[in-house]
Amino acid sequence: MLAGDVRKGCGYVRLAEAMRFDLITIFPEFFAGPLDHGILRRARETGLVEVHVQDLRVFTKDRHRSVDDRPFGGGEGMVLKPEPLFEAAESLLGHSLGSAEQPALLAPKTAILLMSAAGNLFRQETARRYAQLDRIVFLCGRYEGVDERVAEHLATEEISVGDYVLSGGELPAMLVVDAVTRLIPGALGNEASSQNESFSAARRLDLRGEGGASPAPASVESRTESRAVLDFPHYTRPADFRGWKVPEVLIGGNHAEVANWRRAAALEKTQRNRPDLLLR
Ligand code: SAH
Repeated sequence: MLAGDVRKGCGYVRLAEAMRFDLITIFPEFFAGPLDHGILRRARETGLVEVHVQDLRVFTKDRHRSVDDRPFGGGEGMVLKPEPLFEAAESLLGHSLGSAEQPALLAPKTAILLMSAAGNLFRQETARRYAQLDRIVFLCGRYEGVDERVAEHLATEEISVGDYVLSGGELPAMLVVDAVTRLIPGALGNEASSQNESFSAARRLDLRGEGGASPAPASVESRTESRAVLDFPHYTRPADFRGWKVPEVLIGGNHAEVANWRRAAALEKTQRNRPDLLLR
């Protein structure tokens, strides 16, 4: 019943199969909570996405089921071994992922992402690109990290969720699953709502004609013409909360004035919280 409602509500039917996420981890129970709430839960229940959690230890062969080993060259900590990660991914994808002699080809629209503090930064535009895929396999690191051959020869991309170090790749993988899922048509129940958020294409501020366009060289022109701004501030009732009042213009009902105010407020907030976005 929910599926019908969601799809009718936005006039969209995802004809293809569900997008599939595979999470390879040494802590499969980790994902019990985050997948079971809100948009993610609904997307799973309505068949928009399918999530499979794979215990990495299943692909160990020794008595201790060890997934890690000491680093070559010495130093502290343990490193995740390549064999179990390769074999887990091969088992999920149903074919060999190659060797030095015989590099493997991956099905189109499939990505294998290694979660890594040393990876490429994950952004909203990355989420938009991933939302076009059919399948994403996540490799969640632990300890000191993962044998580099996994980054070089198994993963299609090495992804960081921010400039800080976490203790495992599970939370980062969850962030990516969440950000991607809500971009799949039908996931939000209201098609328009993911199109006008922070970082979305519709939130790009056209600076031409606002005195903001600098005489930039042609090569950087496309960057300076439009810049991402954050979402505008939202308010709801009561209009007066403990003496803090909602901006008058939002109550007036003049749509053009509301739109102008929101544009200016979004720019001001971006300037205050993320000036780097305006310099990009
Ligand atoms: N020694 C590594 C950190 C290892 S943290 C370094 O200095 O870069 C252990 C695991 O947590 C990593 O293998 C990775 O899977 C995950 N991780 C930590 N921080 C992350 C981040 N910012 N983005 C994505 N994954 C991260």
